Amino acid sequence: MTYKTKFTRLLALCMLAGLYLSQTVAAQAPATHDEEIQKMVNEVSADNLRTLVEKMVSFETRHSLSSTTDKKRGIGAAREWVKSEFEKYAKASNGRMTVDMDRYTVKGDGRRIPQDVEMANVVATLKGTDPKDDRVIIVAGHLDSRATDVMDAKSKAPGANDDASGVAIVMEMARVMASRQFPATLVFVAFQGEEQGLYGSRHMAERVKKEGWNLVAVLNNDIVGNSYSAEMGIHDNTRVRVFSEATPSNETEEQARLRRTLGSENDGPSRNLARYMKMTGETYVDQIEVVLGYRPDRFLRGGDHTPFNQQGYAAVRMSEMNEDFDHQHQDVRKENGKQYGDLTEFMDFEYLRKNTAVNLATMANLGRAPHAPEKVGVLTANLTNKTDLKWDAPAKGKKPAGYYILMRETSSQTWDKKFFVKDTKVTLPYSKDNYFFAVQAADELGHTSLPVLPVPVRQ
Ligand SMILES: [Zn+2]
Repeated sequence: MTYKTKFTRLLALCMLAGLYLSQTVAAQAPATHDEEIQKMVNEVSADNLRTLVEKMVSFETRHSLSSTTDKKRGIGAAREWVKSEFEKYAKASNGRMTVDMDRYTVKGDGRRIPQDVEMANVVATLKGTDPKDDRVIIVAGHLDSRATDVMDAKSKAPGANDDASGVAIVMEMARVMASRQFPATLVFVAFQGEEQGLYGSRHMAERVKKEGWNLVAVLNNDIVGNSYSAEMGIHDNTRVRVFSEATPSNETEEQARLRRTLGSENDGPSRNLARYMKMTGETYVDQIEVVLGYRPDRFLRGGDHTPFNQQGYAAVRMSEMNEDFDHQHQDVRKENGKQYGDLTEFMDFEYLRKNTAVNLATMANLGRAPHAPEKVGVLTANLTNKTDLKWDAPAKGKKPAGYYILMRETSSQTWDKKFFVKDTKVTLPYSKDNYFFAVQAADELGHTSLPVLPVPVRQ
């Protein structure tokens, strides 16, 4: 056989192998990096974040029971200011961003609400550019603050970190994203009533449910701007926590049975949203590690993502790695020469910038992605060491360029391998006995939907 013949045969073999692979697991994968998202990430400004937090602190208290009529002090003035800022950002949106004060009455309960009180969430909505895409993504923080006594509506309660930091993230994202195009609708919210009992988020979660929104993700940011724990002597602005519930709060008996059988207690939609945030955030933002908290919130705590979880939505909470309790829920005072109180001087705006960027990258990547695949199943008719998966293309939104199959060992915390396919089925040379799988839809720029776990299908 001549060299040439050998070469031709080899070439033909390679082409055949390539063809085979492209039809199975190795189709040309899309890009994994969107330059426009990187540009948005780079526009997030630590100086802007500082200005926003300082302005919120200037209202002296934002306690939910503080004045709603004073022009300079209290929750009313703070709400009006957030609304006016959103309206400024909305000018760049070509009419797509609208701003509302969503008012609601909280009934007096004799505990943290002495008598009926009107509260309001400030909401900026950036309408999606694709009329066929009905998805909604929320990013949120809470505007209200508190002093040592949760009922004290008079004392100074600067709430720089808790939670002007979270609201600053929301506002800075609204500013950067207002002029950009996203097929999905993005909602930016400053909640009220968190400290009195999660009233603003409960109001919104119930409204979302009642109005039947296709809400795919909630990113809640609460206490996200301090990187120093004096108590522990730890200074770390390279790690941030994202908490997520393991399995849905509203899981049915049947779903629970299946979950126990599959061992998928670590793969609820919120948990996979947290993994998505880690993967996307760490792709676009340098010097930040997203640490996955495998519980719904910090020990025995809850937050504005909780009511969304209770209604069955994927919702996670971002919080700084090392909280400083001398500067959280504390009256502003000096004791033995030590300063207490939630003041701006104890914050780290470079850290807050990175945390904002992680939220932005997550929301932008998801907002530009196709809808998630539907009816994702793993075939169980034959005993085999391979894994057969199949699914339907999403019925709504843009047509995916293909799908990523995510895979990890059952004891791995994050997805450690992925395959790209163009078809809506695949046979993988890995056993479903030893791995977890999930499928996400992707477009040509690599924007990916949230992953969907397969359910057993007998056929
Ligand atoms: Zn808080």
